Amino acid sequence: MRQLKKAYLEITNLCNLRCTFCPGTRRTAGFLAPEDFQTLAARIRPHTEYLYLHLMGEPLLHPQLEDILYRAEGLGFKVMITTNGTLLSQREKLLCVSPAVEKVSISLHSFEGNGGKDLEAYLEHCIHFAGRASAAGKKCALRLWNLDGADTQGTNRQNGVILDRLELAFPQSWKVGRRGTTLAPNIFLEWGERFDWPDLSASEENRPSFCYGLRDQVGVLWDGTVVPCCLDHEGDIPLGNLYRQTLEEILDTPRARSIYNGFSQGQAREALCRRCGFARRF
Ligand code: SF4
Repeated sequence: MRQLKKAYLEITNLCNLRCTFCPGTRRTAGFLAPEDFQTLAARIRPHTEYLYLHLMGEPLLHPQLEDILYRAEGLGFKVMITTNGTLLSQREKLLCVSPAVEKVSISLHSFEGNGGKDLEAYLEHCIHFAGRASAAGKKCALRLWNLDGADTQGTNRQNGVILDRLELAFPQSWKVGRRGTTLAPNIFLEWGERFDWPDLSASEENRPSFCYGLRDQVGVLWDGTVVPCCLDHEGDIPLGNLYRQTLEEILDTPRARSIYNGFSQGQAREALCRRCGFARRF
């Protein structure tokens, strides 16, 4: 049985924001029913215990999130939530009491991506949640995935304001690590560079490639389509459907094996992968 570090299971592809950096999706919009979540998640569980509840979409929008978390707990998953943060006040209690929830990552850069007007109120809301989550034993990451190399200061002017506010909220000495900064127990600041989402209409790159898609992760869209990674937002690399096949069978298809073996040899076999800004990180 192939082991993966994590799987992304999209519980909805709907979002309440429209960030400038997010490509969105043209797929049919909808929510994964809790019974269907149970079916798909049970097929993922033998391969990993870490489950992310998004691929596209805002997971806190799901009206039956409580039922989904309950089922995830029953299956023994450690659930990771990535959210734009705007719905945290409505979901705070659920996220803090659910034994399945291990970590909540808040994309603070979504504020900038929407031209938001009241940064102070938004930060207050997110910082309050981080404190409550930490007290409940959950990890909480505050993400700023909006770095632009040397141009960071010019393009992300709000980062300075955000850092000042975080220093006010978490005044203890911060511990800087390789993957982020610990602001307080269980509360982290995670930096990341902007990247171009894979896009079939972008120009193809001809250079050696490596990616962890299918090596440490897999994605499942809300209709059960399995894709190699969390960035295949249109399902351009459909490897199979988890309602009709096991994940083991899907990972063993010629197309999935070709992707895996290609990356082992520094080759991106899929057209989408040759047009993927994220893979440039490796
Ligand atoms: S190269 Fe990009 S599109 Fe291809 S599997 Fe990796 S992250 Fe996904």
